[in-house]
Amino acid sequence: MKYVYGPVPSRRLGKSLGIDPIPSKTCNYQCVYCQLGKTTDFTNIRKNYFPKKEIIIEMKKAIKLNENKFDYITFVGSGEPTLYKDLKDLILRAKDLSKKPVCVITNGSLLYQKEVQNALMCSDVVLPSLDAGDEKLFIKINRPHPSINFEKLIQGFIDFKKRFEGRFWIEVMLLKGINDTKEELLKIKEKLDLIKPDRIDINVPIRPPVEKWVKIPDKNIVSDLNVIFDNYTNINFPEEGAFNIYSYDFEKEVLSILERHPMRQEQIIESFSSSSFGKDKIILNLKKLKSEKKIKEIFYNKQIFWKLNID
Ligand code: SF4
Repeated sequence: MKYVYGPVPSRRLGKSLGIDPIPSKTCNYQCVYCQLGKTTDFTNIRKNYFPKKEIIIEMKKAIKLNENKFDYITFVGSGEPTLYKDLKDLILRAKDLSKKPVCVITNGSLLYQKEVQNALMCSDVVLPSLDAGDEKLFIKINRPHPSINFEKLIQGFIDFKKRFEGRFWIEVMLLKGINDTKEELLKIKEKLDLIKPDRIDINVPIRPPVEKWVKIPDKNIVSDLNVIFDNYTNINFPEEGAFNIYSYDFEKEVLSILERHPMRQEQIIESFSSSSFGKDKIILNLKKLKSEKKIKEIFYNKQIFWKLNID
């Protein structure tokens, strides 16, 4: 499938059927911790990057094929999903096709736009990110498109949260020595107090980040977190479970997942193993794709990861 992937295991959403309406890697941010690689199309233009009709046809097929195998339909993937102009139509169609809740994982940058607010209002769960408490750090971490302004971003979060009746969970990605000091955490908390999310999810870069100097904070940060964010959810752990595979075409299937989601080697083995396709054969196939420069192998956080070779 071109626009749909999974169901995949998700730390926050159980099993999630991913809908990806944005080409790899199109975004209005260039986050230093991005797991997908460098932003190759750095844009803030909202348009239908792929034909809406084609996405809906695939969505329909995947929902039918996977009925009862997923907990959420999630708009997420190879870039920022709110850059898709007719996102509202896609969300409404997903809700027509399934009774499962619809979620949008977004960087939140366009929440100040009424059109984006109206689109996301049709979903059940919105998971935006906020990694900085001021403009200076926002620019350092997220490296946003010049047309995005921090105060407008925060106001967008506040306005949307007031209108939205679904669940609004903000994810904060903590980076060692950058936004994990008491001072920066307090500034982030101050903004979160204005936004009033339903939940604060604390994350760390558990998958290989685009910038090699990005590091996971030390464990002793927990005491500061407990004091500053008295009520938060720790999502700093790897997701468990196999990824759904649609065909026996290893290359097609593995590239389709890695485009949206770097995987630990053990996850690939778990997802692709069958009686005729064992661990050795899987590793051999991964090495072949590596020699063809389609994917790359990264040793990070004491584990082997595979990701698409787009940098
Ligand atoms: S982490 Fe998300 S918002 Fe940041 S650059 Fe990557 S895709 Fe864009």
